[in-house]
Amino acid sequence: EFLSDQGNTSAAVIGMGYVGSPIAAVLAERGVDVVGIDVDPELVAGLARRRCAFSEPGLAELLCDGLDSGRLRVSTDYDLVSDVDVVIIAVGTPVRGTELVDEYLRNACAEIAKRLREGQLVIVKSTVPPGTTRNLVAPLLEAGGLVAGEDFGLAFCPERLSEGHALRELRTFPIIVGGLCGESAAAAARFWQRTIGVEIIDCGSAESAEMVKLAGNWWIDHNIAMANELAKLCGALDVDVLEVINAANTMPKGSGNVNILLPSVGVGGSCLTKDPWMVWRAARDRGIRLDTIGVAREVNDSMPGYTVGLIAEELAGIGKRLDGAKVAVLGVAFKNNTGDLRATPALQVVAALRQAGAEVAVHDPLADPGEVKKLFDLVPVQTAGEALAGADCIAVLAWHDAFEEIDFAALRESVAPGCAIVDGRAHYPRRTIESLRRHGYTYRGIGR
Ligand code: NAD
Repeated sequence: EFLSDQGNTSAAVIGMGYVGSPIAAVLAERGVDVVGIDVDPELVAGLARRRCAFSEPGLAELLCDGLDSGRLRVSTDYDLVSDVDVVIIAVGTPVRGTELVDEYLRNACAEIAKRLREGQLVIVKSTVPPGTTRNLVAPLLEAGGLVAGEDFGLAFCPERLSEGHALRELRTFPIIVGGLCGESAAAAARFWQRTIGVEIIDCGSAESAEMVKLAGNWWIDHNIAMANELAKLCGALDVDVLEVINAANTMPKGSGNVNILLPSVGVGGSCLTKDPWMVWRAARDRGIRLDTIGVAREVNDSMPGYTVGLIAEELAGIGKRLDGAKVAVLGVAFKNNTGDLRATPALQVVAALRQAGAEVAVHDPLADPGEVKKLFDLVPVQTAGEALAGADCIAVLAWHDAFEEIDFAALRESVAPGCAIVDGRAHYPRRTIESLRRHGYTYRGIGR
């Protein structure tokens, strides 16, 4: 039996990125002795100095609490793996084209394999194509001579947190468990029950749990694509897509309601842009053709261009062209309330605007200014007021709660006459739109 000991539990989290860091912090909060291991010496040194690289609400504080109490340690030293009960793998699993880039996973497994001890439990959290835990991770871990499912436990527990709410979701979301064998799944369930104490959903096999994660993201990407197409039509009909969605979502269906998500400037980030391709590829490798994935990706990828079109139309409305116009971009992260810039659709929008000759000022209070400069080749301005100065158009490409503070009425004098607000996140409710119009702004949203 793996993890039979009822005493204090210890864990190693391999990969201290957007996912590994909050997992390590929450486990430490729950009394687990955690060591976070990453191959990036700068990241580890930063964390050790209490510098958190991620703009996740509450994370910096929780990591500090863990480090201060000694419950959490961070290191680049894989040797610490041999001291723990549970090894959690949270390294990146990007996709190139449609193929998994498995190098980080392979490297992590090779290092773990050298230190693995009998009775330990390995839990894979990185998102992987179905069959990866059994066909790739298990053989790599067995290179050290131990047998998966016999000498050590091996389970797959998908990570379903979304950035911006990571801590709350890690503390409350049901945890999915799938094992290489029944005993591995049972051990993983015991571990999460002992530590996080949330509902555990035992899916049986690792393959089943791997598919749960992918099915969830397939659904989200597909749902957003539908919302985006709905928005394109609503925009043309002069119907507010937000009101259509809010009303449509009251319709009972199955065990819940219809749940159409929001349209937006595009779907970015490191998950929805790649996980659907893992599904597509897994199907293709088995001779199955999946059409919905490519279509959804295509629709969602069309949205940055669609948004640029909206901006151009609004400028035309005040007799201006993109060439020479001043556009203020608020929020450049890949989605609301995060500073994560990975695969952000804002990059395409900003690039297209500048290509067309617009002068663009970008402001994002959550994104790291150095990262913004590197990615966008633009020095971000520090305040919304600076961004808005002289703006012909304000494009909200990611909504952050901090933007609630922007006093558009007071800034009216500093923007150009007839300035349009293009809401790339379908964020503003009708009463705010009315008030913006009263203050002389034009409002245009995706599908609104
Ligand atoms: P990330 O790039 O932020 O973090 C990965 C970390 O792993 C990096 O710090 C990197 O240095 C480290 N690493 C790479 N190779 C290593 C090795 N051999 N040993 C130790 N550390 C190594 O990625 P992320 O966003 O945290 O995603 C991690 C996994 O979680 C991915 O599979 C992703 O699909 C999945 N996931 C991500 C999210 C999300 O919102 N970001 C949500 C759910 C699931």
